[in-house]
Amino acid sequence: MNHEKIVSYLDSLILPRDEAVTKMEKLAEKENVPIMDLIGMETLLQLLRLSSPKRILEIGAAIGYSSIRMATALPDAKVVTIERDEIRYEQAVKHIKETGHSENIQLVFGDALEVFEHIEKEGPYDFIFIDAAKGQYEKFFTMYEPLLAENGVIITDNVLFKGLVAEAHETVEPKRIRNLVKKIDHFNQWLMNHPDYVTTIMPVGDGIAISKRRGEKR
Ligand code: SAM
Repeated sequence: MNHEKIVSYLDSLILPRDEAVTKMEKLAEKENVPIMDLIGMETLLQLLRLSSPKRILEIGAAIGYSSIRMATALPDAKVVTIERDEIRYEQAVKHIKETGHSENIQLVFGDALEVFEHIEKEGPYDFIFIDAAKGQYEKFFTMYEPLLAENGVIITDNVLFKGLVAEAHETVEPKRIRNLVKKIDHFNQWLMNHPDYVTTIMPVGDGIAISKRRGEKR
């Protein structure tokens, strides 16, 4: 199967989004903000519809695109999302306000590795979405998985990183990207072998890992 053809076919089937969402997609493209790609986003939303979480934690808000899409798909859910970049945070504040989601999205400014106490107070979470610095995925997962509710799900985005993790790592250029690819691969191996979680990686969008606790919460 030709993966590129399938991706553009699936893209062509996705229904148009409303004006505010389209505006954010255009802004992200113009300013090079790495928001979730369309097929990945639609898959995430469908997983949310299937599991109907009441509380969602997102690590990596960027301009608010995915949090707004999640809050729109699940109007009864509360989304807590973290962003450390001040400019993106301000853009997210604006977008959340403009789309009328100030009540159901709580945007936290700061580094996810430093705001745990605040995030803990709002938990536990039925759904945790990790979409921040790729080199720190293991730290995010380890720090926040204790806040996952009994039957919760953790989704990690970009675990196939443009397919590069499947390449012979030494051939990846430049070195910075090669090192990142190695870190993501290390995370994938670690996650797949996690004693407390069972994980499936789906080659959808940029690669999403879906993790669920193996047994009861310790
Ligand atoms: N989830 C967003 C969406 O699809 O609309 C895209 C998030 S973008 C891939 C990653 C964001 O995570 C960036 O805006 C970056 O500034 C932020 N980020 C990276 N590391 C972070 C950290 N340690 N704490 C908080 N935010 C972080």
